[in-house]
Amino acid sequence: MTHQEKATSEVGGPHVPYKVGYQGQPGSFGERAALRRGLPVPFPSFERLLRALADGEVGSAVLPAVTRAAGTLVEPLEVLASEIASGRDLHVTAEIEIPNRLVLAAPRGTEEEDIREVLSQAPILRQCRRLLERLKARGIEATDTAEAAVQVAREGGHRAAVCSEEAALAAGLALLEEDVSDVRPNFTRFWEVATPRGAAHRRDESSRGPGDESVLETGLPLPPPPEPRIVWFVGARRAAVLAEAGAEIVSLPGETGAPVRGFAVVPDAACGGVAARTVGGGEPPLVWLGPPPEFVRPPRLHGLPRATGVRPPTVVTLGRFAVGGGQRAVIAGPCTVESEEQIHRIARAVARAGATALRGGIFKPRTSPYAFQGHGLEALRWLKEAGEEAELVVVSEVMAPAQVEPMARQADVLQIGARNCQNYDLLKEAGAAGRAVLLKRGFGTTVEEWLSAAEYLLAAGCADVMLCERGIRTFERSTRGTLDIGGILAARSLSHLPILADPSHASGRREWVPGLARAAWGAGVDGLIIEVHDRPEEALCDGPQALLPSDLEALLDEFGFLPGGSGSVERIRTAIDATDHDIGRLVARRLELCRLVAIAKRGAGRPLRDEAREAAVRARFASALAQAAPGAGAERLADLLIGLGLEVEEGDAAPGT
Ligand code: PEP
Ligand code: MN
Repeated sequence: MTHQEKATSEVGGPHVPYKVGYQGQPGSFGERAALRRGLPVPFPSFERLLRALADGEVGSAVLPAVTRAAGTLVEPLEVLASEIASGRDLHVTAEIEIPNRLVLAAPRGTEEEDIREVLSQAPILRQCRRLLERLKARGIEATDTAEAAVQVAREGGHRAAVCSEEAALAAGLALLEEDVSDVRPNFTRFWEVATPRGAAHRRDESSRGPGDESVLETGLPLPPPPEPRIVWFVGARRAAVLAEAGAEIVSLPGETGAPVRGFAVVPDAACGGVAARTVGGGEPPLVWLGPPPEFVRPPRLHGLPRATGVRPPTVVTLGRFAVGGGQRAVIAGPCTVESEEQIHRIARAVARAGATALRGGIFKPRTSPYAFQGHGLEALRWLKEAGEEAELVVVSEVMAPAQVEPMARQADVLQIGARNCQNYDLLKEAGAAGRAVLLKRGFGTTVEEWLSAAEYLLAAGCADVMLCERGIRTFERSTRGTLDIGGILAARSLSHLPILADPSHASGRREWVPGLARAAWGAGVDGLIIEVHDRPEEALCDGPQALLPSDLEALLDEFGFLPGGSGSVERIRTAIDATDHDIGRLVARRLELCRLVAIAKRGAGRPLRDEAREAAVRARFASALAQAAPGAGAERLADLLIGLGLEVEEGDAAPGT
């Protein structure tokens, strides 16, 4: 089954019919191409067709681009080119080849000898020269082949049409001759064009395949078929580079100012890379009609197309909580929601520290069946209200498929615990709940198994999946788990999903939580989930590993988080003190570096002052402080530091001398 055919069979599936516009009449090759991709909708002209696409009347449009016989089909591609030149973002989502067996058709009773005029589309007439010579007939241009058939049926006379068999029969014509093209076998390549939204819809559709062939043994759908890589280019140099790299050039007639222009079909990623590199400053445009090659590479693990697809980092944003793609955040709160009062108290405390999400278990996975199992759904209301009061999104664990629906009604993030990392029924249910999911790595799951579990969530429709390393089980018994920093790095190299670390469950001891948190932070995690309790000795669960709110404040200050809105003067002053401490340490380091650079300059016989460099230092501070201290503040600070540095360099204040 080809990709195109696969897409066709899916479109015929149980979903709402996907409308695909084409130019021409029912029965034309355009209709046949559209039928391969969805429900065909006819339009009288290419302009009208692309306008309908822009207005969302159709999900995509098929444009004939190239025929084997006539090469580039200038008219539709000119319309596409002018849309792109005017800044429209369009994707080519598929190439569809329609074999065109052309027939000669005329009203019943017409003999071949009587035919004086043959109607068809211009490029088709060009590929039927021998037929026209043989019949001694004149070619007459029609807008499309089906229209030619209709016109011949209507007007009769000494006329025939060259069209598809379907169009001839639909117009009530009789077939006089089959396969009349000079080029055999001939075909037209259509490009399916969609807006980025339509293209994303297409990708989802084609990876959801209900047929057996489209599903892996694991029950996971196959990755969507690769989109054809087509670029719009202008410029002779670009054309040459693209052609040399193996692209098929589909040129359009030159224009003043752009004598060489057209489309290029790029066969593989390597060639795409060459094309991408030809983009240079001042060069005429090169526009990818679809994702550029970085993002159309195959997934890093073939069986896990969604979790390991090569694409920009996923950013999960829920209100003020945002992780991924450079955004970092902390989820904090008690292991368990113990009472309404307790969760409100701790919510305020973690918000003050700078956390933007509140955790709290209401269903607890306890190793012993006799241990406290959580307060259940009643506590979910307490958690939600505490979160709302402190402006925190809430995270809570689901342990069974039946818990998903009631939990998803109130919690912003569903947590899948380590013990359930490979509970596939739970993953499917949680992935389809319309909420973000935090997926903890199991104690004994490999990175690949962990990512497979994430694939279940993504395949079930969840776009906001976060991974969380929480310590795996090794031979080591002194810590509760072993925080697998290497595993975090491995997962990072395989997946675009945000990765968090849980230093609380990994260490099991409050004293070690900051150290593990720093280690994970240093390894580049997108976030942390940390257990916090203000009365850990009374905690019903995991008290020994809970940080005190003040410990959390110190840690988040260290990571550069700002205290939450409800911070007291004392709380904020503590953060200022910590910042001053850092500034003092950095200034001391800067001055020590000045002393070293002075020694190096003297050794190299270079002057101590360098105006260009001083200007660069000023510019750096101006840019760093553009928001916080616009105006002359940044310059004053830079001047002060430069002045202090010069004093050191000139030896007046050199430390230790
Ligand atoms: C928890 O976060 O409270 C928890 C039970 O974690 P894990 O599933 O990682 O043990
Ligand atoms: Mn816990």
